[in-house]
Amino acid sequence: MAKILVVDDAEFLRVRISKMLSSEGHDILEAENGVKAVETYQSTKPDMVLMDITMPEMDGLAALREIKKIDPAAKVVMLTALGQESVVLEAIKAGARDFVVKPFEKERVLSAVAKLIS
Ligand SMILES: [Mg+2]
Repeated sequence: MAKILVVDDAEFLRVRISKMLSSEGHDILEAENGVKAVETYQSTKPDMVLMDITMPEMDGLAALREIKKIDPAAKVVMLTALGQESVVLEAIKAGARDFVVKPFEKERVLSAVAKLIS
């Protein structure tokens, strides 16, 4: 069981992912943009983060970099869309541990989480 921060500007996706993970016994925190993600990371120190790339206020790549400044060991998995390969590469260089392409299967999300919290 882990404390997981789910970051996406689409509420339905946050709800969907949160349901998947809480049904596995994880504690879920949510944020709707990069600014809130960084604030929530700092105040709650989650075990890992699932983070969308395209968001208002601050995008996922910028938020990843800020979180890595706060905690170089932060475990962040990017939620990406097709056509975002160059951003994904930047995110991996910036320390993202994995990425899940939308639309995603529940199993793919759960295995990305299991790999990082084991
Ligand atoms: Mg988005």
